Amino acid sequence: MDMQTRQQDQLIFHLTGKRQGDGLAAIDGLDLRPALLAPYRDLNGLRHDFPVVLDERDGAPEFVHSLSSLVDAMLKEVAPRGIDGERLRRHALQLEREIRQAVDAGAAGSLVELWHQAAARLGAREGETLEQVLGHAGGALPADGAVLGCSRDMPARLITHAWHAARRAKARRFQAELSRLVLKLSDILRAAYSHSRAGRQPQSLKQSVGGPHQDAFDFDALSRIVGKGVPRDELPALRRKRLEHALAELESQRFFASAYDTTAAGRECFGFEFDNCAAAARTFRERLPELAALVKAISIAELEVDGRYIEAEHDLLFDAFDENSLNADDLARFPDYLVCIPPERNDAPENANLMEMLSSGLPVKVLVQTSDLLEEASIGTGRFAFGVRSARLATTAMGLGGMFVLQSTSANLFALRAQLSRGLACRGPALFSVFAGSAQPASQLPPYLTAAAAMQSRAFPAFSYDAAAGANWAARFSLENNPQPDDDWSVETLDYCDAALQRASERCAFTFADFVLCDKRYAAHFALVPRERWNAAMVPVADWLALDERESAQRVPFLLVVDANDALQRVIVDARLMQATRRCLLLWQRLQEHGGVHDSHAERLLAREKASWAAERQAQAPAPAATLPTAAAVAAPDQAEPAAPTHSRDETWIDTARCPSCNECQLINDRMFGYDERKQAFIKDLAAGTYRQLVEAAESCQVAIIHPGAPRNPNEPGLEELLIRAEPFR
Ligand code: SF4
Repeated sequence: MDMQTRQQDQLIFHLTGKRQGDGLAAIDGLDLRPALLAPYRDLNGLRHDFPVVLDERDGAPEFVHSLSSLVDAMLKEVAPRGIDGERLRRHALQLEREIRQAVDAGAAGSLVELWHQAAARLGAREGETLEQVLGHAGGALPADGAVLGCSRDMPARLITHAWHAARRAKARRFQAELSRLVLKLSDILRAAYSHSRAGRQPQSLKQSVGGPHQDAFDFDALSRIVGKGVPRDELPALRRKRLEHALAELESQRFFASAYDTTAAGRECFGFEFDNCAAAARTFRERLPELAALVKAISIAELEVDGRYIEAEHDLLFDAFDENSLNADDLARFPDYLVCIPPERNDAPENANLMEMLSSGLPVKVLVQTSDLLEEASIGTGRFAFGVRSARLATTAMGLGGMFVLQSTSANLFALRAQLSRGLACRGPALFSVFAGSAQPASQLPPYLTAAAAMQSRAFPAFSYDAAAGANWAARFSLENNPQPDDDWSVETLDYCDAALQRASERCAFTFADFVLCDKRYAAHFALVPRERWNAAMVPVADWLALDERESAQRVPFLLVVDANDALQRVIVDARLMQATRRCLLLWQRLQEHGGVHDSHAERLLAREKASWAAERQAQAPAPAATLPTAAAVAAPDQAEPAAPTHSRDETWIDTARCPSCNECQLINDRMFGYDERKQAFIKDLAAGTYRQLVEAAESCQVAIIHPGAPRNPNEPGLEELLIRAEPFR
């Protein structure tokens, strides 16, 4: 087989996804993984953020720690510096690995429990003394609590734990204020009673005097003396009623666990944890009257305690006070509602109102876990939940404004713990959109690595948006800790041993296609190319994406992968997956713009400034000899607009009036597509793009209003396939 035929096989696979001949092999069952992931086969042998330990101490400065950081802190405390402490350090790290393996295998418990179990296992292998030494060292661990691996339930448990910590802090503030008001109101009532006729009765006087002195007084005589001319009740009836009612409301509130014995009256504290949006929203509304009554009681109590209650003014105000009078400051004093939606319930009817709930400003913190990124990656497919693809949920919520939004993979949650705390402590709604690696159904990687790969490949980048952080995007939006956030892809050096057993290295990008390779369901999008058939027409995926249309049509994109024996291989990628990879890159670039990276407005401004500077320079230069304009340069006089033709199959057009401005087409080519003054899409410049981009835009358009018509360039590569794809839209 000559070189040209070999390349033809590869090109055909790339364009059609079909393998022909024996020059390409299927990858099913080969246990391939991206070459950059080769060093992570034994994840438990590497110290990383997981497992984590939930700190159970009330008021602890951090709500979560990594196991590694606790072991380091313990060693700093108990291991002698230098060579003397080396043995203990080595055994402690061995024990840490033992715990990591146990948690990975499903072990659960507190750190102290798992520590002692691991010490016992090591002791059984290496001697009882070691168990005793490690058991003793465990006493110096600076924190204890449940140990969590990067498992399916970890995001919900971590966020619930952090939410409890935020709630406890709020409860402390509320209780302190409530106790003060209750005490002051009681004092006012008690003082009024002791000055009243009832308070001057012999029995009341006797109770007010300490026990040892009671026999020294004649309380009947005393009552006759001090009770003369005393009013029946010092407090006017209306005021007494108001004070007693406010006090009763404060003492019987059910929003925070109370210092007062309300359970005795059958009134238990409210719960605020839910697993669906509908129940949370309904419960919030049902409790509003009770919440309004409590806020009213607090307001009355504050005025009474300060002696500022003016009946003529405040009676009217409080008579009309109800749930419609509550404002954001009032709500911020009470617990937020926590909704952790189970991943399999994202598209359930009870969660359909998520966006509505968030945009209405309910004090709710919602965790949504995206269960399958790849199912949703292909255009026109994927399940919709919450009215959008769940992987796009965070960007959609960010567009609504007025809330806190955090998107992250589960592997990155520990690194973003400060942002988690900030989101849970914010006054308004917050959305935490998390991709849990364990939920990707056919991933060949462990959950932690799947989640980390999703972030590394830009399939699920991390970002946060805090509406309260400032007045502009720079203050509100952060791309957080994505690797190499200024670049299209994260690029690392791959060191390997070549066929001649010489050390070699090359720069290697980790792309969306690398992430897809890890999922068995998508094996058909790749074909293995034997080493003897590697050729110059094969280019790495990231480089292929940077080629212009004409160039890329002559090349085939490939990924560097390793097989089960860590031997380096190349797989080529079909056009369908490359389309999804390009789309992933476009979405990442949109996020970059939010983060101020390659800001198109700034770049346009810069270009304008440069042009005006150049024009100024030209104006200052000596004038050239006058020339007559050419015929072509003379502007044609205005002509009457031709009548709009009816749309034929071959015409390229957009049904602009139906465009809901989703922006997908401009993500593909913003020179070809633009918005009119009503922010609806139209074809700005057909010549600014290719037929392929037209077809991709038609496929991306959520309302199918882009009609690609016939190709303008009969020589555009891949036309045959493109015409088939364009057919439903013509
Ligand atoms: S993709 Fe469709 S709906 Fe979205 S902006 Fe373009 S034309 Fe409008």
